[in-house]
Amino acid sequence: MSPPAIRVFNTLAQQKVPLAPIVPGKLGIYVCGPTVYSFIHLGNARTFTSFDVIVRYLRSRGFEVRYVRNFTDVDDKIIKAAQETGEAPQALADRFIAEFQKDVAGLHLIEPDVSPKVSTHLPEIIAIIQKLIANGVAYESNGDVYFQVSKFQGYGKLSRKKLDELESGTRELAGGDTLKELKREPYDFALWKAAKPGEPSWPSPWSAGRPGWHIECSAMSSKYLGETFDLHGGGLDLIFPHHENEIAQSEAASGKTLCHCWMHGNFLDLEGAKMSKSLGNVVRLRDALAKLDGEALRYFFLSTHYRQQLSFSDKMLADAETRLSYFYETLKKTDERVAGKDFGQGPVHGEPERFEREFHEQMSDDFNFSGALAALSGLFNEVNLLCDKPPVKDKAVVGRTLVALRAAVGRLASVLGLFQDEPAAWLLRRRERLVVARGIDTAKVDALIAQRQAARAAKDFAEADRLRGELKAMNVELMDTPAGATWKVIPTLQAED
Ligand SMILES: [Zn+2]
Repeated sequence: MSPPAIRVFNTLAQQKVPLAPIVPGKLGIYVCGPTVYSFIHLGNARTFTSFDVIVRYLRSRGFEVRYVRNFTDVDDKIIKAAQETGEAPQALADRFIAEFQKDVAGLHLIEPDVSPKVSTHLPEIIAIIQKLIANGVAYESNGDVYFQVSKFQGYGKLSRKKLDELESGTRELAGGDTLKELKREPYDFALWKAAKPGEPSWPSPWSAGRPGWHIECSAMSSKYLGETFDLHGGGLDLIFPHHENEIAQSEAASGKTLCHCWMHGNFLDLEGAKMSKSLGNVVRLRDALAKLDGEALRYFFLSTHYRQQLSFSDKMLADAETRLSYFYETLKKTDERVAGKDFGQGPVHGEPERFEREFHEQMSDDFNFSGALAALSGLFNEVNLLCDKPPVKDKAVVGRTLVALRAAVGRLASVLGLFQDEPAAWLLRRRERLVVARGIDTAKVDALIAQRQAARAAKDFAEADRLRGELKAMNVELMDTPAGATWKVIPTLQAED
């Protein structure tokens, strides 16, 4: 049975539409990347994780995906940040690109196929501005270039804003005046800005200056994906003005539709407010990753549909890690049960493929991450049932079913970017983190375990139980396995933090 056709919620149409690649079997996707003037926060990380999983899923369905995610490394915020640190703006931007790469590595994000930077695409940006001037929709004014919004018919079609509702954009001149008077109409926006003294600049036909924010994405998306491409993504806050302006620029330049489908990820809330640098309520990705596993963070992001708001608290992250450790324990147990064994050919119990079918149903329906996780969770429940209370007696049937389910976990988890680690190694790393967080004396744990072994050898079971209780009081749970006693930190206590 082939998986269901994929439907995607298109912000422009305000409904789910069938995914219909321009070139059969291929997809081009452009995602607006970070403005690199500081460390990325969890809200940004959620958006990039959503598109990471979307790209992974599309590839798993056999599409040849070209994934482009840019770096905005020329921007007013970068100039301002550099003035504060005393660095050259480009040096500051390059430093934060490197920090971004380090941080997202902890989330196991796949590398985009192209990560273009503004600073290396000035010729393309200048060329598209020239085209807009030639097409009569942009004009030069005192070294700046503006897009004349009223000349573009479809302006407002993505954000559903009407021209007369738009706030006028203003720009401060040295001395506190604004450049309003340089624009023909108040809602016109800058394509090129003449540099003030001391600001970084590039030569252009109009002035030594720098591009406005929006034009870079029009220039770079058409360079790498063509004038019309399949999917364009970003956070919800980019719909207006950024994406609205991208549409105006690209479509006024080419006369073609910019992209077939606009996808927007929702916000991450911290105590009821959207996490954003301007609100000052940000949690850096880096700080979150210092406290918990990147995969647990990914699991937490996937617990909610990408178009829904997600609330965040330390407890929710800790709970996600606890849930993930339960899954990893299941995998470890399964691997120990099936490793190196041959269960032969023959029937399996139940219908292992039903979980995979459900997973695809969910992911095909506008990438329903939480539904997909529920299918994966069902798979784990089935594995646990077969390991702990097998509903069938035939050990070969149980073994074959476990092998089939384990393989399904591998396939589905790789689509979500989960369970890429060796279970024992992951669990040990988590234990080490919890040991540090809870200040557990591991030498004492080892000593108590050795005493308990001795008590058991001497058949003093009362003493062995007492020692187990003493360990429990230290938040340590003992597990007796065929290979000897192992231990873990009791996770429910962690979740109370
Ligand atoms: Zn963009």
